[in-house]
Amino acid sequence: MPKKNKIPSSLAQLGEFGLIEHLTKNIKIKNESTLKGVGDDAAVLEPRERTMVVTTDLLLEGIHFNLIYTPLKHLGYKAVVVNLSDVYAMNASPKQITVSIGISGKFTLESIDALYEGIKLACDRYNVDLVGGDTSSSVTGLAISITALGEVEKEKLVYRHGARSNDLICVSGDLGAAYLGLQLLEREKSLFEGDPSINPDFLGHDYVLERQLKPEARGDIIDWLREKGLIPNSMIDISDGLSSDMLHICKSSKVGCSIYQEKIPIDQTAATLAEEFLIDPLTAVMNGGEDYELLFTIPLEHHDVVTSNPDIHVIGHITNPNEGINLITSNGNVIELTAQGWNSISKL
Ligand code: ADP
Ligand code: MG
Repeated sequence: MPKKNKIPSSLAQLGEFGLIEHLTKNIKIKNESTLKGVGDDAAVLEPRERTMVVTTDLLLEGIHFNLIYTPLKHLGYKAVVVNLSDVYAMNASPKQITVSIGISGKFTLESIDALYEGIKLACDRYNVDLVGGDTSSSVTGLAISITALGEVEKEKLVYRHGARSNDLICVSGDLGAAYLGLQLLEREKSLFEGDPSINPDFLGHDYVLERQLKPEARGDIIDWLREKGLIPNSMIDISDGLSSDMLHICKSSKVGCSIYQEKIPIDQTAATLAEEFLIDPLTAVMNGGEDYELLFTIPLEHHDVVTSNPDIHVIGHITNPNEGINLITSNGNVIELTAQGWNSISKL
């Protein structure tokens, strides 16, 4: 690659190599499949399983995150977690990540340290090796791109396209809370901008804030399914809202579905906050996004096993394609699902 600009002045004393050295010292390799991490021209990996999955996300300040209410440590943690969630959604185990950052002049060494604290915390929690990356200056704002690599036995891979008629549709955890957390942060930001003497009021809203600022990837669900010998027919992680992600499964699998409003898990504090915002909790679930829960379909015969896990909810079933992709509301109305998932491209 051609040589890049010098890094920003607040970090200038350290220099690019000094910064990389500073950020990557003390990294201990955790996985056997990582033969060489940071420190050479490329990392060297030797996957124990023959099949690898690879996924990347690009996060740009002002488009994907707002540093006014996002602590950098949380941002680092979340940036890793969203990639791991994609690896789990293939039924694979994440093993390595690379992290590339673009930093503008407004950032201090302390702030980049905070970002890496979050990144490293996620690596420790999920037993993943940070094996490389790239570092550059940027004209404005912070850019973070993370790539995650995972391993899986080939026959255990789960795609979006495998759903079959009569499969049960299952979802882990609960939905909609991350979106409500974002609405709360945006409201408090506007109030603060109107009158800086106002302190943000976050009392009693821990759950929705945590879901927005520090989500977790559901590796525990993947482990549990594996323990029980269950392999879903199809799977996706819910990043764009249930509506859009259910549509992805149905369109890829060429099937229809019926999901039932009364079966959709919603946290009580999230539902209460939705009321306060005059938002239908169902809208937060269907169109909100950033839940990072797993949505999967499994043959009907596994009903009893799958429902023995209190954190997995059966919300409906897969149908023939001619029956449509539908939500059945609590009062019996049938609503066809449409993709209204948040799409940053539409903001350009
Ligand atoms: P190159 O000039 O080959 O791109 P660099 O000097 O950028 O090499 O990187 C040196 C080493 O540090 C490489 O192993 C690279 O993967 C790693 N590295 C660079 N930037 C980062 C970063 N932001 N986070 C983690 N590792 C990094
Ligand atoms: Mg480089």
